Formats: sequence, structure tokens, C-alpha cells
Amino acid sequence: MIIVMKQGAKEASIKKVLGIIETTGLQTHLSIGQEVTIIGVIGDKSKLTNCNIELFDDVEKIVHLTESYKLANRKFHPEMSSVKVGNHIIGPDTLTIMAGPCAIESEQQLIDTAHAVKRAGAQILRGGAYKPRTSPYAFQGLEEDGLRYMKSVREETGLAVVCEVTSLIAIEAAVNYVDMLQIGARNMQNFYLLKEAGKSGLPVLLKRGLSATIDEWLNAAEYIIAEGNPNVILCERGIRTFETATRNTLDISAVPAIKEKSHLPIIIDPSHATGVRNYVAPLAKAGIAAGADGLMIEVHPDPSKALSDGPQSLNFAQFDKLVNDLKPYISLESRTL
Ligand code: PEP
Ligand code: MN
Repeated sequence: MIIVMKQGAKEASIKKVLGIIETTGLQTHLSIGQEVTIIGVIGDKSKLTNCNIELFDDVEKIVHLTESYKLANRKFHPEMSSVKVGNHIIGPDTLTIMAGPCAIESEQQLIDTAHAVKRAGAQILRGGAYKPRTSPYAFQGLEEDGLRYMKSVREETGLAVVCEVTSLIAIEAAVNYVDMLQIGARNMQNFYLLKEAGKSGLPVLLKRGLSATIDEWLNAAEYIIAEGNPNVILCERGIRTFETATRNTLDISAVPAIKEKSHLPIIIDPSHATGVRNYVAPLAKAGIAAGADGLMIEVHPDPSKALSDGPQSLNFAQFDKLVNDLKPYISLESRTL
């Protein structure tokens, strides 16, 4: 971090800034230019959080050179991380496919879908039991009954299972039934929920908020890791733009950007990114080519009857074909399914 002093800053003002920094145990580097004086701060800048240096006399501005997230930051953890979910490892050598219905609608729907996605090659079953719907009148999910079906399907098929949680009550229930918690786009900055997910001990799939910057997203991940839970997987699920031809706009550049800034695995959700079934396959391929560690895809036994997100869901045959079509792309990236 550097502190830029105003032109003509008084010596007393500069000394005051230097003094406060040094009392926190940090080192300083003073550079007196012809026009401006710059003070470099060496060390953990969080020690200055409550000092309000920007309000000191003659301080022009503060420029942060390193990001506020540390635990999620690749600068301090250059090796890419792997995260174990059930018996499956998500990481730089594998390509993980999570698939299943948007919402768990019945035990039979979930069992049939689980068998179909497993046969096709998916390793993790997804399904929402607590649905954050835009309309309060839309289907809200089966809640704990849905979680119970998840657990029995997991026992029957051996698939690992992931479910979204929208409250502390949902977390407290979900830890008894699932292998991974999902924090949805609408809750990415629900900091209380992030902390509770961090304390749960389960891996967390953290979706990107609808209008979140990459920096905000990584800070959200930091909330979870700061609770002692390093097992975070990021999911790019499309962001809000001016475009209306698709439900959201898949930010494919988020994949290399995240890989540069963070060691955390990142997956792509082409279903929510587009809202259009026919666009799922091309964007799944693009995600793999861009370096994603996995995909999340919505699959339903009969999308025309789905209680949520039918237009973006694939049926079993379409999902089976998709996984087959993805195989050459997965090999090209030297990953294994
Ligand atoms: C979901 O995965 O079911 C979901 C609601 O996704 P998002 O939070 O990305 O909208
Ligand atoms: Mn959905």
C-alpha cells in the first residue's frame, strides 16, 4: 500500500503519517519527489484498518497494491488447490461434472435423474431443496424432505451430493445429508451465511453474485476460508449485462482471471448463465477450453414439466450426448473425467 501526500504537504503532516504507521510495527519507505511525497507501507496493512489515514492532514489518497483477500489469493498460495467432495477430487487435473434438477421435486424424480447423470459420467448430483425464487409464489423447494431424498440417493448411487443453503436453518439441516453446501448467486454477499458455511466443515460451492466483481467474489470466498474452511469452489454462473437474448451473460474471462488471482478451483454453470437449453453445450465446451475445473448442468426427466428452470434443463438423452461430446475437449485439456 502506498500513501500519496498532497502537493506541498507540510513536513509535520508527513511525520505524523510516518509516526502512526511505525507505531503499528509496520515499516515505511519514504520517497520525496519534486512535486509529491509518497510513503510506502511494508507489511500487513490490516494493522492500519482503524487508523483512518486518509483523513490525516495533507493526505491525497491511498493506493492498495495487494488485494484485501489473502487466503484465497494465489500470491500467497501459488499451487492450485484441490477440494475433496465425498470421494471425488475437484482440482487442476480433473474435470468434474455436477448435474441434476434445478429443484428436487420428488424422490422418484431425484432417483431417476441421479441414475441417468451417473450413467452419463457425472460425479456429483445437484438439486435444490431450498429455492431462492424471484417470485414468492413460485415453488420454494421441499426443504428437509428434499435433503432426505438427496441422502438416500447418495447412498443408492455413490454419487456425492450438493445442495443450496439459504439460511442458518438450512445449513444446520444440510450438514446431516449432503457432501457440499452451495451458496447461490443471490447470497454471495450474505456475509453471515458465508461465515456459517465456513463453520460447517463441509466444502462450499460459491456462486458468483449477479453483479459481483471478481474482487468481491474472492472476498466472499475469503469469508468462508477465514472461518478455517479452505474447501471453496467458485462457480461462474453468468452476470447481469444489458443483453436480453440470454438470461445472464457467461463471463468466460472470469476463468483465466480467477486462475491468475486465486488458487481455488472454478467451475462453469452454462445452464443459469444462458437460460437456454441449446446454448448449454457450446458454453460447456468454452468453459473447458478456458480452463474450468468443472461444470454444473441442470438435468430433468421431463424439462417441459419442471417446476423451475425447465427451459434451460437438458433431458437424459441430451445430457448423455453432451458428456460424450465433451470428452475430446476434456482430453485436449489433459484432464480426466
Ligand atoms: C441453482 O443453482 O439452483 C441456482 C439457483 O443458481 P444461481 O444461484 O446461480 O441463480
Ligand atoms: Mn436452476
